[in-house]
Amino acid sequence: MQHEAEGILSSSGLSLDWRLSGQAPHETYDDLVVVRFKGDCRLTPAPPIYDELGPLASTYVADGAVQPFSDVACDKITASVRSAIWGKDFARGDMLLGRALGRVLVHELVHMLTRSERHATEGVARPALSASQLTAASLRLTSADLELLRSYAAATRP
Ligand SMILES: [Zn+2]
Repeated sequence: MQHEAEGILSSSGLSLDWRLSGQAPHETYDDLVVVRFKGDCRLTPAPPIYDELGPLASTYVADGAVQPFSDVACDKITASVRSAIWGKDFARGDMLLGRALGRVLVHELVHMLTRSERHATEGVARPALSASQLTAASLRLTSADLELLRSYAAATRP
C-alpha cells in the first residue's frame, strides 16, 4: 500500500511520513491526515461477492468543509479485489490488495489535501474505482490532479 501510494505521488512534491495510531502519541505534526482502516484488511480465500460494493472509503465533510479524516472500508476493498483475481493471481493477492489500498488511500488524500469533494474523469481520482482499476498494472493521477497536489506541497513546505 505504501509503495503504491508513494509511487502515484512520486511527482507531486508531497512526501508521506507514515505512523500507526498510538505510535509516537506525543509528537506534533504541521500537516496531518488521519485514515482509519475498518474491517478486515487481509485477503482471505472466500467466494467472490457479487453485490453493490458501495463506497470503498470516505472522507469527512463538516459544514461544507472537507476534513483531514478518512475511513477506508477494508471489507469492501478486499471483496472487490477478490472478484477481480482468479487462480494463480491469488499467489500475489497480498500485493494486489496493497496496490488497491494504496490507490484508495491516494484518492482520499487528494480530497483531504485539496479540501475538495471534486473528482477527475480519469485516474485514481475518478468518482469510483472498479475492481479492475484497483488491481490493474498501473493507475495514476491525471496531470491536473498532480498539479493541484504540487501547489499544495509548495504552499505547505516550511
Ligand atoms: Zn472521492
